[in-house]
Amino acid sequence: MKCFKVGPSRLYEGVKEDLIEAVDLGIPSISHRSQQFQDIYSKCTNGLLDLMNIPKSHSIFFLASATEGMERSIQNCVENYSYHFINGAFSNKFYEIALNLGKSAEKYEVDFSQDFGQIQNLNVFDESEMLCFVHNESSTGVAIELDGIYEISNLYPEKLISLDIVSSVPDVEIDFTKLDCVFFSVQKCFGLPAGLGVMIVSPRGIEKSRNLNERGVSTGSFHNFVNLHKNSQKNQTYETPNVMNIYLLGEVLENMLGKGISKIREEITNKATLLYRFADGSDKFSVFANNIESRSRTVIVLDTKGVSSLSYIHKLKNDGFEVSSGYGDYKDSHIRIANFPSSSVDEVEELIAVLRTL
Ligand SMILES: *Cc1c(COP(=O)(O)O)cnc(C)c1O
Repeated sequence: MKCFKVGPSRLYEGVKEDLIEAVDLGIPSISHRSQQFQDIYSKCTNGLLDLMNIPKSHSIFFLASATEGMERSIQNCVENYSYHFINGAFSNKFYEIALNLGKSAEKYEVDFSQDFGQIQNLNVFDESEMLCFVHNESSTGVAIELDGIYEISNLYPEKLISLDIVSSVPDVEIDFTKLDCVFFSVQKCFGLPAGLGVMIVSPRGIEKSRNLNERGVSTGSFHNFVNLHKNSQKNQTYETPNVMNIYLLGEVLENMLGKGISKIREEITNKATLLYRFADGSDKFSVFANNIESRSRTVIVLDTKGVSSLSYIHKLKNDGFEVSSGYGDYKDSHIRIANFPSSSVDEVEELIAVLRTL
């Protein structure tokens, strides 16, 4: 079976062997206070710094999931007001988490097939302490323009910015100097088992958390930024973490660095071009994203034009290909195809050949 599911996605090349080796090395049983763990920790964080071009001034924290990244962003950087850009299920979840934490969350919501246009021209942020975005809406295949976010960062330097990059990392090129909390989990583009989140935090983000903390505002307990930062400086975590996944991520990063990020991005471009060219020429599918500029490079979402997408998914499975159904309300009217680093151009061509026969 060739897996093109959006998440959990296909294992990245070499992960099966890495898993077996990790068991042979006894990694599931090592202490998270040992030197061996600290070495695994620093290999992983150094790999992230290199692959994603993260400034040394920023901190990298390990969490349990990307959803935790949403909660930690709000809890550590927002005393009262957060502002959310919503164009899909994940950005909406981010907003709901802020409400659940008792914050006065505001939102700017657009139709789910759309991006937000010229957000730098909006003047609605008022007292918002943090602006929250999802770069690539895995629910709809719409990606937003980062230049608009960077411009907002220049226009409103006092506001913090949080960005979810779960389904576009490491394809998306990020200017971390303009962002304060950037997070993802590993079961999408890094092709690893679920259960590990990664969060990159600016010095300002940590400062804000410390400031709230000192004034008696709750920033959470063991995973507040001050605590995460203190432990990360020792290449350790407060709790017993997902050691296995931190190890595996370190190996995948080494593999990706060996291949080179430009080669990875080039393959994603080529595969996305093939998939969208197919969809644009097809009478069975249409691309859900409304504007060509906002089409996601990594999650291709196609509307099945009134035919049950679940019936297509069933047929594809019989031919040896797994894709995701639509998300939420779109379950039976969309298919979602992962264009992650773990699939090759040849495999995408094979998938398209089968899609043509539907
Ligand atoms: C999958 C996904 C999440 C949630 O990730 P978890 O690891 O399940 O918390 C959040 N945001 C986006 C864009 C996603 O695709």
